[in-house]
Amino acid sequence: MKKRLKSVKDRIQRAADGCGRDPESVRLVAVSKTMSVDRVREAIEAGVTILGENYIQEAREKISELSSYPVSWHFIGHLQTNKAKYAVKLFDLIHSVDSLRLARELNKQAGKIDKVQEILIQVNIGEEASKSGAAVKDLQDLIKEVGPLENLSVRGLMIIPPFYNAPEKVRPFFSALRELRDQIRESVPPNVGMDELSMGMTGDFETAIEEGATLVRIGTAIFGKRKTPAD
Ligand SMILES: *Cc1c(COP(=O)(O)O)cnc(C)c1O
Repeated sequence: MKKRLKSVKDRIQRAADGCGRDPESVRLVAVSKTMSVDRVREAIEAGVTILGENYIQEAREKISELSSYPVSWHFIGHLQTNKAKYAVKLFDLIHSVDSLRLARELNKQAGKIDKVQEILIQVNIGEEASKSGAAVKDLQDLIKEVGPLENLSVRGLMIIPPFYNAPEKVRPFFSALRELRDQIRESVPPNVGMDELSMGMTGDFETAIEEGATLVRIGTAIFGKRKTPAD
């Protein structure tokens, strides 16, 4: 694990150096879905500081068992509205907010625990019917509505591009997200941040960094292959 983590960190550094970015501007989210508490502990002891989880129930158990570690937990999976009350208690950043309904529920639940919940808006850049994410055409309206919600703080955008093995095929989706971010940046409400771009996974994170990623979500390259089917 130590070796794999070091190799991932070296690759992040090289990708950032290669395009003139500060490597510190790219944060590594170690995606620990399906991994046992012991594996996650191992990753933390090897130096991981942000964990990404996809399922509320699974994350709850891990977070409670590993609560003595000063790490940050991010939610990166699809979030059902009825799980919002758990999500606000567990996660520092929720990457996958894609509807006003979900945002309103998160705002309500965060309010109950006196928290300002940081979120990203997940965008469906490929416009694929099967994937979640807000449609590009709805993004500005969504941000206009979410901006004023007092217990939410928008920090940027996230995508899960269509799966390709070739990073060069994914690059247009990454650059499209960055361009979209740059376009709307000037017109978002004052309390909405557009600095974060969550994009890039094991197969394509270097390309994502070249296109401006600030949060890369990496599972397999750190933990090895998952036993259950990837999603
Ligand atoms: C599983 C997952 C990842 C990590 O994928 P790897 O290919 O294992 O690096 C990243 N983002 C999301 C949303 C995921 O569900």
